[in-house]
Amino acid sequence: MYVSDAIVAGGRSLPGSSGESIDVVNPATGAVLDTIELASAADVGTCVAAAAAAFPGWSTATPADRAAALTRLAATIQARADEYARVETRQAGKPIRLTTEFDVPGSIDNIAFFAGAARNLEGKASAEWDGAHTSIIRREPIGVVGSIAPWNYPLQMAMWKILPAIAAGNTIVLKPAEITPLTALMLAQDCLAAGIPPGVVNVVTGTGPVAGEALVGDPRVAMVSFTGSTAVGRRVMELATQGIKRVHLELGGKAPFVVFEDADLEAAVHGAVAASLINAGQDCTAATRAYVHRSLVDAFVAGVADLYAGVVLGPTEDPATDLGPLVSRRHQERVAGFVDRSRADGGTVVVGGNAPGGELSRGCYYLPTLVTGLPQAAELVRSEVFGPVLVVLPFDTDDEAFDLANDTPFGLAASAWTTGVFRALRAQRELRAGCVWINDHIPIVSEMPHGGFGQSGFGKDMSGYSFDEYTQVKHVSMDITGETRKSWHRTVFTERP
Ligand code: NAD
Repeated sequence: MYVSDAIVAGGRSLPGSSGESIDVVNPATGAVLDTIELASAADVGTCVAAAAAAFPGWSTATPADRAAALTRLAATIQARADEYARVETRQAGKPIRLTTEFDVPGSIDNIAFFAGAARNLEGKASAEWDGAHTSIIRREPIGVVGSIAPWNYPLQMAMWKILPAIAAGNTIVLKPAEITPLTALMLAQDCLAAGIPPGVVNVVTGTGPVAGEALVGDPRVAMVSFTGSTAVGRRVMELATQGIKRVHLELGGKAPFVVFEDADLEAAVHGAVAASLINAGQDCTAATRAYVHRSLVDAFVAGVADLYAGVVLGPTEDPATDLGPLVSRRHQERVAGFVDRSRADGGTVVVGGNAPGGELSRGCYYLPTLVTGLPQAAELVRSEVFGPVLVVLPFDTDDEAFDLANDTPFGLAASAWTTGVFRALRAQRELRAGCVWINDHIPIVSEMPHGGFGQSGFGKDMSGYSFDEYTQVKHVSMDITGETRKSWHRTVFTERP
């Protein structure tokens, strides 16, 4: 067990000064990994001051210099990839196969992408639109970015926030989730080791109401980027409104998974199992609501139930483990509550529906759970559960499937399963979500945007779209005539000879 500093501010590592601390607990075992002294509002101010002081230098560093620093960061993280994977596994309860094959390599690939993006800063115009002025579009960094991240992918979420911001010349203060701060703190240290100047990347770990609100409310913070629940996103947006700050929100999801009558059933069943259980279902794009054509429902339910029953729950550091625990005891109880209440709504729990016993009961595990028989209005169908829980509902016509799939306030991700080209084309148009997969569900790439519609928020992570979000457009208009008296002046006053 360690007692770690809570803050990396301007290159210095500091304890938090709130007088409160939090134990970082391995949810697979209950072991305390570390104790973090939580940050106060004053600590947040120290980080913001460091970011503001670093902004003039970093924002005027050449794109090549910023790209070189990011390239060195990728190498630094690569050299510690196993350690990152192990720490991420322990603090978040992720199976080691997931952290070594997805979280860490995905993060390194993100860094490589944004190292390239840093050198592709472009404006659209350079021309004389009225014949008398040359217009130039500049894309400039915004200033100090305040970012707040969730616990489900602590390293990747830190990357998605930090990389586009600093590639574009901003400086940043990141607040990770208080229960999973360790890899974000490692990352802040590695930014320094890679030669990113002190103050460009600052990390402050504290609670949402104290550190999070202080960060959003700090007048020196020009932009707020937030990933987390829709409820907290609403609060963040309200606070940011006071300062008319640019806001970027990646919020909750409730992704539909639509299986048409002409689907490859085996592919759909395997896809549903993987997409509903990834990261123990604690993934904002996870498949949560399977709408299956009535002719396939029985076979689909039987196939998913069969695969669910074979999923291996076990120690997270064992490469044979498929499914790890939920992130905390509190969250495990929350997920169990949703499933328990679904029984009262008429739901049938086909498999799962409880925590495993024996050795695993020390951890926050929950069995893969398949529920049928619920109406569209049921809580389990409409609310974000964030656990290894899939509901299956039947449909009869394509129109009905699209209506049901689109019938929640969220719109982060969706998938359609069909072998028909026209049905696939119709599905990609009809499904209202920031990402629509056809015959797959989950894969992401650094080059393509991630972000929601509706109450899943706005703004994009990853890709050139997210790079653009961390810049602001300036129009520069330069007189090219050299005239002392301009013809347009007559609209204001009459020229005298
Ligand atoms: P959460 O909203 O509870 O917390 C997210 C972050 O906000 C944490 O760092 C927390 O400390 C902070 N916070 C809490 N209260 C705050 C306040 N009043 N002011 C400022 N900050 C505050 O979310 P969570 O439980 O950590 O994460 C799960 C949620 O994140 C799910 O809803 C999931 O869908 C969402 N998520 C979305 C995406 C996406 O890209 N859309 C990605 C990952 C997770």
